[in-house]
Amino acid sequence: MNKKTICDVDVKGKKCLVRVDFNVPMKDGKITDENRINGALPTIKYLMEHGAKVILCSHLGRPYSIFSKEIKKIKPEDEGKSREELTALTVKKCSLKPVADRLNEILGGKVTFATDVIGEDAKAKVAACKDGEVVLLENLRFHSEETKNDENFCKALAEFCDIYVNDAFGTAHRAHASTAGIAQYGLCEAAVAGFLIGKELDVMGGALENPVRPFVAILGGAKVSDKIGVINNLLEKVDTLVIGGAMAYTFFKAKGYGVGTSLCELDKVDLAKELLKKAEDKKVKLLLPVDTKVAAAFPDPIDAPIEVSVVASNAIPDDMMGLDIGPETQKLYAETVKTAKTVIWNGPMGVFENPVLCEGTVAVAKALSETEGATTIIGGGDSAAAVKKLGFADKMTHISTGGGASLEFLEGIELPGVACLDNK
Ligand code: AMP
Repeated sequence: MNKKTICDVDVKGKKCLVRVDFNVPMKDGKITDENRINGALPTIKYLMEHGAKVILCSHLGRPYSIFSKEIKKIKPEDEGKSREELTALTVKKCSLKPVADRLNEILGGKVTFATDVIGEDAKAKVAACKDGEVVLLENLRFHSEETKNDENFCKALAEFCDIYVNDAFGTAHRAHASTAGIAQYGLCEAAVAGFLIGKELDVMGGALENPVRPFVAILGGAKVSDKIGVINNLLEKVDTLVIGGAMAYTFFKAKGYGVGTSLCELDKVDLAKELLKKAEDKKVKLLLPVDTKVAAAFPDPIDAPIEVSVVASNAIPDDMMGLDIGPETQKLYAETVKTAKTVIWNGPMGVFENPVLCEGTVAVAKALSETEGATTIIGGGDSAAAVKKLGFADKMTHISTGGGASLEFLEGIELPGVACLDNK
């Protein structure tokens, strides 16, 4: 990685403003999954141990902008409510206080919580923060200026910042005040990566730039249009590209197969033809499902019992919908994964939310968990959730903490939250 990290700067006695990802799932004011808190701990502990004043900031959920002049984007159900009512609602749902309490337990009472972001309480708590202690600021998105990357908001945040540390990969594809602006506007003496972002860049960047071959990428999910950039970039790098999910049907159409009532982007068929041609030109093996699990209709609700049959991919009946890869394809994809030395996977192979239609996704997850000595990278989102749910998480080399961010990274786009950091 060509970016500086916290290990490259002297943090002793310095105010280090750390953008973390504490966007944890909550239910009734309780944290239901602490993974993101645990993910940030190595960076926080390193900074504490090295005598920094650690000022943490994050967003959580989709709050109202209660600290800004105007509260925007009021949901229909909250229309007509007073500012006080909206504030109470947002604080109840999206305050970072429960995270501060939990972090304080984990870090042995060294954490204080500021009830605002750049206001009087934050200023007082930061001023009182001693070396080796931590302050967590309230939810950044209580200010609409955060996502607008407002320069004055950046300046106010930068008051808490000798050294800026970005450790939130999940938001690194956004140019917000806390993810890029502070460093972009040159408001601190150094801007460096934390350990979490460092690992993402090392593992994913390493695989893309210098993969041990054979290098296999597996892409699934709903739409080709969401992943055109990723497919294009990966075709320059991989030996084999494996396609699953509804995306496959647009490629079937490009090959002249009927797709029945399957999800298919007709306006992307020509593009799929171009991608097939590019794969051929680049001598990349592009694998499409050889058989398909079909049903009469999309399950409603999504996890409802469903009657399915398996057909060859070039024989999907006109009145049927493809909803998962079939058993022959599962075998083919698992064998392909077995021979790989580097595998990157993003997107489910079928409607994995349904117990009957998750088999393709499970088969791919299992194959990745069984590789010997291969680097296995899960590119966030649904595939990361599937791997964790199936208990394969500790069998993977790396599970990216960013869905959108990892897709943009795989697309070869420089993420604003990384671009703004100091080069080595
Ligand atoms: P994405 O957000 O693009 O990764 O797509 C994930 C979604 O694609 C999941 O909610 C899946 O249910 C859906 N999906 C995968 N395969 C199919 C399919 N064959 N037909 C319809 N939806 C699918």
